[in-house]
Amino acid sequence: MKVTGLCVYCGKPATHTCSLCGALVCDMHYNADKGICIACAQGKKAKK
Ligand SMILES: [Zn+2]
Ligand SMILES: [Zn+2]
Repeated sequence: MKVTGLCVYCGKPATHTCSLCGALVCDMHYNADKGICIACAQGKKAKK
């Protein structure tokens, strides 16, 4: 899957998209098991 953009957490090139919140995330901030970002994996709601 091709992702264009930067990780919302660290600003590095993103390699995944969270299937829950749609955030662009890099490997470090992506939970491959669940296919979601770390914030969603931890049950935290994204705060803007
Ligand atoms: Zn990141
Ligand atoms: Zn998420």
